[in-house]
Amino acid sequence: MQRLAGKVALVTGGARGIGLAIARRFAREGAAAVILADLDGAEAERVAPENPAFHPCSLDVTKDQDWTRAIDRTVSRHGGLDVLVNNAGIAVVGTIESVTLEQWRRVQDVNVDGTFLGCRHAVRAMKPPAGRGGAIINLSSVSGIVGGHNLAAYNASKGAVRLLTKSVALHCARRNYGVRCNSIHPGFTETDMLRDLAAGSRYSPEELRQRLQASVPLGRNAAAEEIAGLATYLASDEAGFVTGAEMVIDGGVTA
Ligand code: NAD
Repeated sequence: MQRLAGKVALVTGGARGIGLAIARRFAREGAAAVILADLDGAEAERVAPENPAFHPCSLDVTKDQDWTRAIDRTVSRHGGLDVLVNNAGIAVVGTIESVTLEQWRRVQDVNVDGTFLGCRHAVRAMKPPAGRGGAIINLSSVSGIVGGHNLAAYNASKGAVRLLTKSVALHCARRNYGVRCNSIHPGFTETDMLRDLAAGSRYSPEELRQRLQASVPLGRNAAAEEIAGLATYLASDEAGFVTGAEMVIDGGVTA
């Protein structure tokens, strides 16, 4: 049985990494349409032809007008919105002493404001009577659960995503909107983000990959497809009683 048969989903940061893995899995599980919404619209255009369910969309999650356009177009072209994955995110390595105010603001802008706007627009589209309920999935991180000495801005942003998720979940539950909202907290996952993290550290990408891996009880980093499996569960009707939950997927790092 396909677990997302007929559903319409929008995935931010859907052109690469974890977002693209989620989009691919959603399509395999029968989603009718998966909008690949990315700041890098050209990359979304490049990968979209691989699956007939994929629809590329240029979207900056920090811009309210981009959200209005993307969500309204999704509803008018595909008949509604069932799943939003707020996946787009950036990481900057820096301690409380080294991170600049500009870097701090950019991280909060994309990770926190972007997720806030996504939740707000999704609730608008999903709530009855116009909407038919739905699932919102926010990508936080293990860095939204435990601190790291050199991730001041990223830690703060992912902690905010964790509690914003719970607030949205309670708001929608109390009003009987049929909208669930949950957060996913991956440990280090093999994507291009490694390059960003390595750029701010004293290690090469490969050295950093090995170091991160050595700290994981299961002895390896996550594959993006493994995060996609959890997102599929949360998006599906099997998770009908799951809301406001923080789902850790980290190979035992925070155990
Ligand atoms: P990635 O860098 O591989 O891909 C991120 C995508 O988001 C890119 O396609 C980029 O163009 C897009 N993006 C960036 N800013 C955007 C904006 N303003 N608007 C729209 N799109 C934008 O990252 P990833 O590793 O796939 O990470 C995805 C999410 O998972 C992020 O929220 C990240 O914080 C979280 N996460 C990643 C890891 C990891 O180890 N890779 C671990 C925990 C959590």
